[in-house]
Order: sequence, then structure tokens, then C-alpha cells
Amino acid sequence: MKNNGVIDLKSVGAAREAVLNKLDIYTVRDLLEHFPRGYDDRSRITRISDLTPNVLNTVRAVINTEAENVFSGARCVVRLRIKDETGTLLIVWFNQPYLTHVFKKRDEYIFTGVVKEIRSFSTLITLEMRSPEYEKWNEGKALSGGRIVPVYSSTGKLGQKTLRSLIHSALQSADYIEEFLPQDILLMHRLCGRDHAVRSIHFPESDEDFLTARRRLVFDELLCGQLAILHIKGKVKRQKGVILKNSRADPFLQSLPFSFTASQRKSLTDILNDMSDGYVMNRLVQGDVGSGKTAVAMAAAYAVIDGGFQAAIMAPTEVLARQHYNSFSGAFEPLGILTELAAGSLTASERKRAYKRIESGEAQMVVGTHALIQEKLSFSRLGLVITDEQHRFGVNQRFLLSQKGDAPHVLVMTATPIPRTLALILYGDLDISTIDELPPGRQPVDTFFVSSGYRARIRGFIRKQLEAGRQAYVVCSMIDESEEKVIRAVNEYAAELSEALPGFKTACLHGKLKAEEKQRVLEDFSQNNINVIVSTTVIEVGINVPNATVMLIENADRHGLAALHQLRGRIGRGAFKSYCILISDTRSKMALQKLKALAKTNDGFALSDLDLKLRGAGDFFGVRQHGLPEFKIADLYKDMDILKEAQEAANTLYGRESESLKREISRIFKFNEEHPIPL
Ligand code: ADP
Ligand code: MG
Repeated sequence: MKNNGVIDLKSVGAAREAVLNKLDIYTVRDLLEHFPRGYDDRSRITRISDLTPNVLNTVRAVINTEAENVFSGARCVVRLRIKDETGTLLIVWFNQPYLTHVFKKRDEYIFTGVVKEIRSFSTLITLEMRSPEYEKWNEGKALSGGRIVPVYSSTGKLGQKTLRSLIHSALQSADYIEEFLPQDILLMHRLCGRDHAVRSIHFPESDEDFLTARRRLVFDELLCGQLAILHIKGKVKRQKGVILKNSRADPFLQSLPFSFTASQRKSLTDILNDMSDGYVMNRLVQGDVGSGKTAVAMAAAYAVIDGGFQAAIMAPTEVLARQHYNSFSGAFEPLGILTELAAGSLTASERKRAYKRIESGEAQMVVGTHALIQEKLSFSRLGLVITDEQHRFGVNQRFLLSQKGDAPHVLVMTATPIPRTLALILYGDLDISTIDELPPGRQPVDTFFVSSGYRARIRGFIRKQLEAGRQAYVVCSMIDESEEKVIRAVNEYAAELSEALPGFKTACLHGKLKAEEKQRVLEDFSQNNINVIVSTTVIEVGINVPNATVMLIENADRHGLAALHQLRGRIGRGAFKSYCILISDTRSKMALQKLKALAKTNDGFALSDLDLKLRGAGDFFGVRQHGLPEFKIADLYKDMDILKEAQEAANTLYGRESESLKREISRIFKFNEEHPIPL
């Protein structure tokens, strides 16, 4: 298989090569995989007598008169008359004098352009076509007319016509397009050949032809992605890891004031099995907010520590790290385990002491932010790293992480419910445990969606809750303005609310507060010294105050479905009935659908499906940031069905890929130059 540079093409010189490079096109293959971003259907040829004014028309006609250059004021206007069997038509171009040399009388051309009505002598209406695209008609082989014509993303320096003909001439050499799938897969999934697909995606003969071609190319992309993930998983799994023999989580479980749900127990068993089989664990624990994932992570950490190793948990933010520190040290101290905090806000001497204890192994449990764990902080015997999906590590970053150091076990937690097919792409390298039940005795949160007219009544309701001893969160997101304005607005809102709730204490939380200030507010809130927290968009994801029973969200339409569900997860964490109130005056149909869905269900998976439908996969929960490979042609939402088939095919093909398929996989999914995918 050849893969020449574009410069090898006849019509590409240095200047054009530079322009192509700007489009990320370096080789002929890149050029062939510069798929159209859309199409113009110019397959319908209109007879001159049937032209429709003010829209694009395509005509096939012979040149009737020489092109002439008529000056009209300062402008040069080129006029050309063409003719088909039904009549003649005048064509005009502006300021393109060279066109007078292009057309030869009696040659046949295809023209695509907008037709205008011209009134001459105030009564007579004639038609003329303005600045059409044109191409000589060579026995039906035209590229820009009389057919479905590809439209490419390009730069101003490279016209559609040029790009089209470049790609067309590159296609003349079939060497670049090889079939890398075996016959049985093609048959099983009703796929056309790769060669046909690449040709037809550029120059489809019909809509059907286009769909067939697209389906094959999408399939290939998703299949390669899935195979790449399977290989990573295979490689990671074969990596020798810390072996935990007979380590127990029981003493920890017995110290809890509750017993694990069946789901929690199952997840913990999965984890303990993974950690004792001699290979590195890479496991995801997913479960809705409040389902008890942190408790499972603690039990896993306890077992590792019991086996003589250290465990670490990475929190996405400083505040969350402190919160985790409080819960881990609170749970572990009575069991004789020393927990250490390694966060950026420590003073130099505190940090020195902490690092020393971590290096010596005296600190058995380490809680830190992500940056600190990546820093050259050395552990004495690190056995387990727990991370939070908040880091939005991609498959590839996780792979690189697992190659580091002494290959500790990795446990990832996520509260973002994801449809299964997508989970395979985002977390395909991980084994998955799902916690699909809430601890007993939890009352489902009631959610109401109301307009701002209800605000006064809602405040009355909040007062009653506070009087009963409960606490409340208020999230007031503003229209995206400067941060100062937002903070001022939050402060004003809090002041007003505080007046409306005499006798209760209100505090603000926003991005500009220092970590210690935030920490103090949260601490006071968890001690019930503060009754209401008013915050800007983000209430830290991990806040756990079971006594809080109200979540009021102003301008709720401004948040994504997932974010709203996460916010709602801050309440309903204790024995008290909790209420989530969404205030919005939106008229947007999509926003209304979203808010109504929240009011109807607490099921994170159902909401994630809806979210996917409303927004499409590109946007889904910030999928991009999850390190998802960028697909050229596949759309994870639209192509969900193809994705399922590609996943099936990947399982069939895994381990028996042809050399050419392997090349394709590593070509598409190289992480970076130093780290080719392990095939
Ligand atoms: P998540 O991390 O999934 O959001 P947490 O582990 O923080 O959930 O648990 C939420 C709350 O529920 C915590 O207060 C925790 O102590 C409590 N909890 C966890 N598991 C159980 C259980 N099996 N029974 C009762 N309460 C539980
Ligand atoms: Mg293992």
C-alpha cells in the first residue's frame, strides 16, 4: 500500500501543498479521508424553459455565443449565452475578465447557479444566471454538476472545485484504498467494500449509495476504536500487580453504623477478587449519587492497608479533598489507620511533614488532589489509587497512568450514569461494577418545576423546613456575565434571602472564595451552624450533609440535565424527606422537556438516555473532555445502532486482525508519537 505525500499528485505544487497542510492533509490518504461535510444535489438538470428564479438551478447546455466583456461603470461584466433544446439563457459573471477565454462555442457545459429575473423596458421579464459554477461536460463525467456534488470544509485559498478535482484525481489510483475486513464480517454486517465506500462518500451516485458508503466508514471508525480499547484492556490486564492475599475489609464493615447493600457487597467482592489475582485491577464503580460508592472505596482502601500497602484517593478539587480527608480519617482513625492530606493549601512545613509520613509509609491512607499525586511524591508501598470521574481521564491517559510506577491497582468511581454502548467507549478499558440500589430507608427526592411567580411561596416552604431543623442549598446561576457581577448578584440574592428568612443564617459560596473560606463555610454548614448555602453554579460534587433537605435551583434551564441531577444528588442523603425545586421561566421546548423529565424521575440512567437524545453525543456530559477519540465521520448518537454492531464485530475480530486492519487501528488511534497503541 502506498502512502505518498500530496505533493506527488500532478496538480499539487509547493504552494498548494502548504494550503492542504493547513487542512491537516499531508498524504494522499489524508486527502481521500477528507470526507465531505455536506452535499449539493445537482443531479437534477433543469431545462432552460423550466428554470425557477431565485434558487440554484443546474443546466446542461452548449455555448451559443462567444463570451464578451462588457464594462458596466467600473465593473467588468462577462456575458455568455448558452442554449439547450428548449431555449437560450444569459449568464453573467462580475470582475472575472479571464472568463472570456475559457469557453469555446459549441462546447457542452454544466452550469449551477442562481437564476434572477430581470425586467427590461419595465415590462419584459427575462432570466439570467449569476456567477454559476461551471464544468465541461465530458460524456457524463462532470464532477460539479449533473450529480450529487460533495462540499468540503476548506480554506478560502482552496476552492471547492479545485479540492473536488484533486480528490477525484487521487481516487483514480486505487492503491490507497485497501480492504482490511474479512469477508465474513462484511457479510455478517451487510457492509460494502472499503474501496466502494471511499469512492462513494466523495462522489455518490445516489442517496442510497451515500448511505451505504457512510455506514461502512462509520463502522470502520467505531470498530477500530473498539478494537483499540480491547487491546489496551488486554495489555493492562496482563500487567502484574500488587497481590493482596487474605486481606480483609470486615473490620471496616463492622465499624460502620449500617450494613452494605447487596450492590455494594457485590462491587466490593469484584474489587477484592481483582486485587488478589496477581494482575493489576482497572475497575470502574458506577452508581447514582448517594448510592454509597465512597463507602465501597473506603472498604477497598481498608483491605489494601490491611494487606500492608498504602492507598490513595485523588479528588478533583481542594475542597473535595478536604471533605474526603474528613470522612476517611473519621472512619479510619478509630481503626488505627493514619490518614494524611496532601493538598496545595498546606503550609510548607505541614506539607514537608505530610510528605515524610507518606514516604516512610507511616501514612497509610493518603487523600490528595490529582496534581499532587502526579507530582514526584513517592509512596512507600502504594497498592491502590482511587480516582474520581471528575478528572475526566480518557482511556489513553488512564493507560499511561497505569504504566507509571509500581503499577498500583486502579479504582475509578463515577456518578454519571452512561448508556451501556457509550460506556464501552468511555470506559471500555475498565471492568465495571454497578451499584444500582440506594441504601435502605432513603426516601426518593420529590422534584418540582415551577415558574418564578412561585418564588415567595417557595421561600415560605424553605422557612418551614428550616424551622423543622433542616438545611437548604440555593443555586442561583446568572446569565454568563463577568465573574464580579455574578458574585455581586449572589451576594445580593443571599442578602435578600436572609431578610426573607429572619433568624436563620445564610452564607455564600462562589469561585472567588479562598479554599480556606470555602472550607469554613462547608464545615459550618455540616455542623448546622449555617442554615442555607447560596452558591453560584457549582456546589462541590461530593458534599455530603444528610440534614440538608432542600435544593432550590434558580434559572434551572441554564444547567445541563446531568448537572441538575448531580445537584439534586446533594439532598435526599439522610432519613428526611427531601425536595428539589427547579425555578425557570424558559419557553425553550428542549429546556422544558429536560425540567419536566427531572420532575418525573430520579433514575439517572433514564435521564442520561434522554440527555443523549436531547443533546447528541458530541455534547454528552462533556464527552469530549473524557478523552474520547475524535471521530471523523461517526456520530455516537446518530450511529448508536452501528456502534452496537461494531462492538459485536470487535469482539469477534479481537486477536485475529489482519495486518492491514492493525495498521488502520494504530493509524487512527495513536495516542501520541511515543505511545503507539499496544497491538
Ligand atoms: P456516593 O459516593 O455514591 O455519592 P456515599 O458513599 O457518599 O455515596 O454515600 C452517601 C451517604 O450514604 C453517606 O452518608 C454514607 O455514609 C451513606 N451510606 C452509604 N452506604 C450506606 C448503606 N449501605 N446504608 C446506609 N447508608 C449508607
Ligand atoms: Mg487483578
